[in-house]
Amino acid sequence: MRDLISSGQEPSGFSEQQTLDPRQRAWLEVSPAAIESNARALRRLLKPTCALMAVVKADGYGHGATTVARAAVQGGAAQLGVATLQEGIDLRRAGLEQPILVLGNLTQPDDLRACLQWQLMPTLSSMREALLCQNLADGSGRQFAVQLKLDTGMNRLGCAWEDAPRLTEAIQQLNQLHLCGIYSHLALADGDPEGDGDRVTRLQQTRFNEVLHHLPEHQALHHLANSAGTLRDPGLHHDLVRVGLALYGHSPSPHLDAAVPLQPAMGVKARVTLIREVGTGVGVSYGHRFVTQRPSRLAVVGIGYADGVSRCLSGKITALHRGHSLLQVGAITMDQLILDATDHPDLDSGDVVTLLGRDGDQEISPRSWSELSESIPWEVLCGFKHRLPRVTV
Ligand SMILES: *Cc1c(COP(=O)(O)O)cnc(C)c1O
Repeated sequence: MRDLISSGQEPSGFSEQQTLDPRQRAWLEVSPAAIESNARALRRLLKPTCALMAVVKADGYGHGATTVARAAVQGGAAQLGVATLQEGIDLRRAGLEQPILVLGNLTQPDDLRACLQWQLMPTLSSMREALLCQNLADGSGRQFAVQLKLDTGMNRLGCAWEDAPRLTEAIQQLNQLHLCGIYSHLALADGDPEGDGDRVTRLQQTRFNEVLHHLPEHQALHHLANSAGTLRDPGLHHDLVRVGLALYGHSPSPHLDAAVPLQPAMGVKARVTLIREVGTGVGVSYGHRFVTQRPSRLAVVGIGYADGVSRCLSGKITALHRGHSLLQVGAITMDQLILDATDHPDLDSGDVVTLLGRDGDQEISPRSWSELSESIPWEVLCGFKHRLPRVTV
């Protein structure tokens, strides 16, 4: 090898500007137009005084946070929500100037200092973090914009809702802090309207309203609803809604499908890398979990579980090609999977198949994958790895 390529150098004839075609093997197609249109459709559900926060955590649910944030702002999102400090900094570096809320809890003074420097709003759940922020801001001569989270029944982040009026008052005494928002998070808003979904959501709403009732007139934005809350009941909207899944074009639950027209913004595409003709009784892929029952034509496709096509989907999913649906057979492997193309003689090596998203008038949804793998659409979307190039269309 040393004779051919000296270490660290590009092979001759391959310049640095020259990059591989992102559509070489497998890729994600992301439609900013769909995101923008979903943001507009969601905005139309809201009263004019209610703002839309685009939740772009986990790299915009796998779509690419910067792409999504720009498209959502174009469609009327006024604020952005991220889970981690780094996600917030990445958006600032990309030039986004909207208010950004960090939804996760930051515990280290250095992390909170970075929030102040990058103008990211941390979520506070206790006086401990509030005092840390006050001290940091004191030294900087700046006001620190923060939000207080209260727990009304999710039992994850937030102070106990009963403590919120006291804590709000204490935070307002801290002269370096600017309390921009008071919020809570729903646990079962996507639940069945007939079942616990309704009871728990109502209870959370009642507790949230109770706290707001005890607060003095104040500038802070009050917010409670995620996608499901937003689609479910305008009574949950308050001053702002924090929307993730619906922004990407998916309804959080089948009973909320009709609330607003949404366009899925992601397609997962991969190329057929080899076509093979085999006989009857041939075991296919690891473990020979599939054995041909007839002379078969198999199509090897260059995408696998290391790209985000979960191995638990083996033998359960289909791929689309020119209006036809092809069964996936055998174990999904790290980098490849196999389709049964016996009834599809026109499928050829180099052809592109659709694993998720639309092809002609057919569509495969993240919900269908999540039902087959006992997961949820959220996990399917953010499960696609960075090995897959994101191609905007
Ligand atoms: C992720 C998240 C959201 C968005 O949830 P969706 O169901 O995707 O709309 C809203 N609020 C908080 C606090 C979150 O963590």
